[in-house]
Amino acid sequence: MSCRPATRRRQEAAVFQARVTKFKDQLVDVKTNREYQALQHEIATAQSELNAVEEKELERMLEADQIAIEIKQAEAAIAAQQKETEAEKAARARELATMQRALDEAATERAALLATTEPRLVALYEQVAKARKGIALCTATRDGACSVCHVRLRPAVFQQVRQNDTIIQCESCHRILYYEPPPAADRTVATPAS
Ligand SMILES: [Zn+2]
Repeated sequence: MSCRPATRRRQEAAVFQARVTKFKDQLVDVKTNREYQALQHEIATAQSELNAVEEKELERMLEADQIAIEIKQAEAAIAAQQKETEAEKAARARELATMQRALDEAATERAALLATTEPRLVALYEQVAKARKGIALCTATRDGACSVCHVRLRPAVFQQVRQNDTIIQCESCHRILYYEPPPAADRTVATPAS
């Protein structure tokens, strides 16, 4: 479709060029000064028409060059974008594979731990986890409360929890309690006060 106007302009140019040539050929047969001037006028008209068509053709060629440059730039931008997208996709795939490996390792580790744990404790853990949205274990706070439901533990119970050697459940939420001793630095600071 885009080549049709260009073809038409070339045909027009050929017509005007032929006219200029024909008039120039006729110049040799001219008898009078008036005929000569008239012919010169025809030549000038045909020549200016030819020039106009050629100028338009040149303009269109420049436009086409500009469009070709813009197409190349757009293609380069698309290619760069595609490359970026591919790189991002590859990075996400690697990330997913790493996470999947970590998940598989954790699952294997969990299965191994469960296999060496007393079945009644596993059953208890699963029962509490099911009732408590998956959180079956929680710490006792350093001042003796359940860290999740915040119910205060009886001193004797807290004392037992601190030893971390028996299964003690919170009397309120039934989660299995454990104790995290404060870091060594805290204890040395706390000692003179007690
Ligand atoms: Zn609790």
